[in-house]
Amino acid sequence: MILRNHPPAPLVWAVLACAMPSAGDWPRTVPESTRHARTSTVAEVRGFMAALSRRAPALVPYRPRHAPMATEAGKPLLAWRLPAASKDALRVYLNANIHAGEVEGKEAVQLIVREFLQGLHPAARRHLDLVVCPAYNADGTDALDPAIRRYQPNPESGVGRRENSRGLDLNRDLMKAQAANTRWFLAMLKDFDPAVVFDLHTTNGSYHGFHLTYAPSLALGADPDLLTFNRRLLNEVRDGLKSRGLPAYDYGNFRPESLKPGEVPAGWETFDFRPRYLSNYPGLQNRLAILSEAYVYRSYADRIADTRTFVLACLDWIAAHRGEVRRVLGEARRHWMDSWQAGTPSLPLAADFALTERHSFDVVQPLKDADGRVIGEASRATLDLPSFVTWAPRESIAVPEGYLVDAAYAFKVRPVLEAHGIKVLPGSARPRSPLNFFHETSRTVAAQFFQGSIGLTLKGAWTPEESPLPKAPRWTRVDLDQALYVPLDQPLGRVAFYLLDPRSPDGLVTWGFFHESLLRSDGAWGEPLRFPILAVGGAHDIVGADPGPSAKKAE
Ligand SMILES: [Zn+2]
Repeated sequence: MILRNHPPAPLVWAVLACAMPSAGDWPRTVPESTRHARTSTVAEVRGFMAALSRRAPALVPYRPRHAPMATEAGKPLLAWRLPAASKDALRVYLNANIHAGEVEGKEAVQLIVREFLQGLHPAARRHLDLVVCPAYNADGTDALDPAIRRYQPNPESGVGRRENSRGLDLNRDLMKAQAANTRWFLAMLKDFDPAVVFDLHTTNGSYHGFHLTYAPSLALGADPDLLTFNRRLLNEVRDGLKSRGLPAYDYGNFRPESLKPGEVPAGWETFDFRPRYLSNYPGLQNRLAILSEAYVYRSYADRIADTRTFVLACLDWIAAHRGEVRRVLGEARRHWMDSWQAGTPSLPLAADFALTERHSFDVVQPLKDADGRVIGEASRATLDLPSFVTWAPRESIAVPEGYLVDAAYAFKVRPVLEAHGIKVLPGSARPRSPLNFFHETSRTVAAQFFQGSIGLTLKGAWTPEESPLPKAPRWTRVDLDQALYVPLDQPLGRVAFYLLDPRSPDGLVTWGFFHESLLRSDGAWGEPLRFPILAVGGAHDIVGADPGPSAKKAE
């Protein structure tokens, strides 16, 4: 039995203190100044960063052009920029506290900025232009409550809430962009144009032997070479951290997630490929992404330290490989646009877990106190297991030249598309290619609300034959001219496809933007409506229904 998560002995504290950089007259973070009894509020983050700015004026407040300044509840959305010393720097964005109960990234980011200003990381400081947002979920950040996440070793202040004040999980909001925070983030992508996006979290409860888990962008339909490079970055950082005593691996859970005592897991699997996650979405925009998940049962101080170490190791790697990063991102952008010259590009609608490798995992059975808090380990076994931490795309379809969206929905569809940075044209500007109509073959309506919406999953195909419902209005030339036209042969065409194709696992159809037309109850007295999206040009066959090596579907 190995007891864990108890405070280090005083001698260890003394050694750790000696190893830390001298604070001198530099401002101290809230955990530092309270012996880790508290985590910072939005005002305290602002106070710390303002104090750093006074000490080192290179650090300046940052606000993206055309971005909201506050959440719906009035909490300020605050970020800071630390421009690089060199002119050809890579831009990197650090996001923290999107789940405001997972506070470690918020504290680690403040430490990292101070250390950059103190000159402790000269290569990264020279070659990386940073924007940091330590308290992204500003609503949740200030709602500190010791009752939240009581299963983890917590500061006495408690930690914040997972969701924003409207009950939205901001880490499911990237496609529908309902929250002001998301529109701020999308505006930041346009304005700052980062090469790499970090999103810093803490795990939610599964038991394993890693101090930190991570993920690259897993976005379905992102450039394959970019995803491979994103994974290589993290594999190499992992190998470097191993020699420094920080065991890290791809974020995931055992199969099954909850193991009975003595049960041997069948493997390890990562999470979702949908772009609704902040760490997946950048892949669709041809950017690298890094999800960081501190291990929930480490001490509060250790979780901050682990997150700091991991982020710094990634930043050092990125600075050292900045030429390669720039090349891979440039090629990903060119691949998409060049694919239109070579014919019609195709994108997948689904994926299966892929067997990535075999890896060594510590399977831990925890000891818990009467409140359910982990106080040690009953057992720990090291097993070699199959690891499913990548996705094999399937159901690839040749994408159309673009989509037309019924003008009746322009008032809510156009703002979302433009928030993503997608070019939207009038329907009259559409190419004179044949129109394709969506023929629905099956649908699934979710049994429960999720993020304020009932999910709708459609299956079907685009075909040239119009077969309207009786009494449904036909599309006229005027209707077509007044519709929105969204071409896919634009730099963010991948994002536009996954927002607008009716079969997209994370599109506007799924998120309820067209429910008035598509979810008609028997009690409706009105006549049927036409399908509100048309495809312009392009093939409509499934070209690659190739099931991956793992049976489990991700839909
Ligand atoms: Zn989280």
